Amino acid sequence: MLAAAGYGEWRLRDTPLGRAMRAVRDNELAAGVAGIDVYRTKVVAFALSSLLGGLGGALFAGGFAYVSPDQFSFAESVVFLTMVLLGGVSSPVGAAIGTGLLIVLPEWLRFLKSVPGLYLAIYGAAVIGIILFMPDGIWGFIRGRLDRFKRTAARPASAGTLALSGGGSGAATVLELRRLSKHFGGLKAVDAIDLAVRRGGVHALIGPNGSGKTTTLNVLSGLYRATGGSILLNGRDVTELPPHIRTRAGLGRTFQNIRLWRSMTALENVTVGAERPGSPIARDGDAVLARARAALAFVGLEARADEVVAGFSYGHQRAIEIARALASDPVLLLLDEPGAGLNSSEKVELRDLLRRISARGLTILIIDHDMTLVTEVAEHITVLNFGRRIADGVAADVLSHPDVIAAYLGTAPDAAA
Ligand code: ADP
Ligand code: MG
Repeated sequence: MLAAAGYGEWRLRDTPLGRAMRAVRDNELAAGVAGIDVYRTKVVAFALSSLLGGLGGALFAGGFAYVSPDQFSFAESVVFLTMVLLGGVSSPVGAAIGTGLLIVLPEWLRFLKSVPGLYLAIYGAAVIGIILFMPDGIWGFIRGRLDRFKRTAARPASAGTLALSGGGSGAATVLELRRLSKHFGGLKAVDAIDLAVRRGGVHALIGPNGSGKTTTLNVLSGLYRATGGSILLNGRDVTELPPHIRTRAGLGRTFQNIRLWRSMTALENVTVGAERPGSPIARDGDAVLARARAALAFVGLEARADEVVAGFSYGHQRAIEIARALASDPVLLLLDEPGAGLNSSEKVELRDLLRRISARGLTILIIDHDMTLVTEVAEHITVLNFGRRIADGVAADVLSHPDVIAAYLGTAPDAAA
């Protein structure tokens, strides 16, 4: 039973369900937006845990032919938790190591029992020491060393090219907002905005800080519920749908503050994007992996696919986030300030990346207040100020609009008029 449970858990890690569970643990918001049904994933995780607990309980009761609540004291629960933390929570190997250690450690220290208290003090110090110096447990520590060793190994053959369908031949308007509003109490963060994003090209949503850009995007991707108005994606009303369903309907996005699953590798992050349910390749593991590699290659990071995300530079993390969104083959790509925090050479790379995405026919809605980037990539601009749309149209016209200039210089629109 132990071997079967251990094997099942070991294999679970690299299945779509295992990746979804790790993604939900690392960043729930990003998981929903990447197409994962967060609620269902949690229920499945609880059910699997209960299954293992129930199995253990049945074997225990069968073995002792007797069960009573006092066999399971609070101290006992702490020991179980310590076993797992000590060995490493992320793998059954860690649990086995921790359990073994906590069973043999008291035996090894038995000779100290003659001095009262000394045994417990040493035992406690050993546990604290391991948790302090090996935060990922003993197995996490060992695997970290092994990974560093493996990283120098030969890289697999190069990835194929990333196919972006851009939603195929749908309606001419990819996204339409009709009098969309989002109020926080008395604050009208987004106030009856109309917006139409045409298929193909780059559409920019700009405005001073606090003008409602991120809020618009959050309502769009379903993280906030709209106070009023409606959202049509490819002609379909998605106003009331949860985030993962909108993603399945073709919305891809990145966040103003990067939201990657930090304990997972670059490739695993992008793989979750590629296995978006509803995509034609979702059930074909090899095709999903190939697509994830192609998406990483598209942003220039294929060679570092197996590194954990936390070790990447800020600019590269942004690129991985874009790759994750691209891997789901969206109809519309929403980017929230992708240029924020990038240095000038990274911004040039970003601009080229946006142009390459756009050249493949995928529509982009980009938020940024870097005017250089916006004027270089966007054909169409919508300007927000205090939650209202103050201008909309072809880039050059919008940027010379007096209200827009006033908003950016900080004067009230009425005074400028
Ligand atoms: P932008 O992205 O254009 O800089 P935001 O959309 O983040 O602006 O914010 C617009 C306004 O909404 C700001 O005044 C902000 O303080 C407010 N706001 C944003 N999110 C929330 C929230 N969750 N609760 C209350 N107010 C919010
Ligand atoms: Mg913002």
